[in-house]
Amino acid sequence: MDSASPKTNLLGLDHEGLVAFCAVLGEKKFRATQLYRWIHQRGVADFEAMSDLAKSLRAKLAECACVQALPVLTERASRDGTIKWLFDVGEGNAVEAVFIPEKDRATLCISSQAGCAIGCRFCSTGHQGFSRNLTAAEIVAQLWYAEHELRRRNKTSERQISNVVMMGMGEPLQNFGQLVPALRTMLDDNGYGLSRRRVTVSTSGIVPMMDRLAQQVPVALAVSLHAPQDALRDSLVPLNKKYPLAELMAACRRYLQYAPRDFITFEYCMLAGVNDQPGHAQALLDLLNTDGQGVGWCKLNLIPFNPFPDSGLVCSAPHDVQAFAKVLLDAGVVVTVRKTRGDDIDAACGQLAGEVKDRTRAVVRMQRKRDAVPL
Ligand code: SAH
Ligand code: SF4
Repeated sequence: MDSASPKTNLLGLDHEGLVAFCAVLGEKKFRATQLYRWIHQRGVADFEAMSDLAKSLRAKLAECACVQALPVLTERASRDGTIKWLFDVGEGNAVEAVFIPEKDRATLCISSQAGCAIGCRFCSTGHQGFSRNLTAAEIVAQLWYAEHELRRRNKTSERQISNVVMMGMGEPLQNFGQLVPALRTMLDDNGYGLSRRRVTVSTSGIVPMMDRLAQQVPVALAVSLHAPQDALRDSLVPLNKKYPLAELMAACRRYLQYAPRDFITFEYCMLAGVNDQPGHAQALLDLLNTDGQGVGWCKLNLIPFNPFPDSGLVCSAPHDVQAFAKVLLDAGVVVTVRKTRGDDIDAACGQLAGEVKDRTRAVVRMQRKRDAVPL
């Protein structure tokens, strides 16, 4: 490779991609596996430190490749153990990742895009507009940094992150080409070794891409629903005009055949007077049970709206949330209502992502901008 070529950031290659990369360098598959383990399982970025790789290979790698982390702009930690990192992705753009520890699991909520083009009314990322897709390397870099930084802090070589949810900034299924290798590295036994049920993609409902995800990397799926009727959903999630509810629900049922769990999670952001009335709950029930086969195939997460300036929206009153939940619970839907962050990890990130973006919370620690490769 000529010295003027930019180096390949190996964080963006899945195992197969790294095998192909190493083949070009004249290296065998098992070398790629060793290298992949050094990077993801041990968090090593410096090829020189990869002691069981031949010196000649280390030298070749140093010439044409790198393991490039994202610079950390800020870190905020909350009293409940939640940590939010803001990463610099260049040209004035930043994305966030949120670590949410709980008793039986520790979830990392990560971003897929800088900004978002979908423009949902209740979402501050949507209001910011779209800057660009993250590369696979930038998606994986969030996990790589968080996992190995936590191990360093906690002085352990034990796994720190047990679950990943794509619920930070951006619409993951609009960045499908980069999402797929990133997910593969999360799932790979030589990478992070997470099971498909512990990796969740959250989508606003890009129907054809849901089918492609089912075919290529069928991880757990969360669908941001927010409204049970097309007219209302059109006004909250503009994408609904392209993929209306009937098509979206049909895609969810198709996905179910490939999903690692026997349910799809639906997220529903509770907006006072907009989508939180008993009539909406009844309509939602009808939607979930369109085929008359019951509601056992879905799980519903009611997310209190996190307000942000100029949204013109208000979070539902607790008694409205309870009444809404009761209609669905009484009909047998598995409903989770989140009151505070950390209450329910499976969907806490939507709330947290909104909160960290939109509110100034107690800043426990503001870190200086770090070197790109934190070793
Ligand atoms: N774009 C994807 C994933 C990122 S958003 C999606 O829309 O599913 C992750 C979750 O956060 C979504 O369910 C979204 O509806 C929710 N969310 C966004 N803004 C919010 C806010 N202000 N308050 C509460 N939840 C919000
Ligand atoms: Fe984009 Fe999701 Fe926000 Fe909608 S809720 S604007 S899809 S990040």
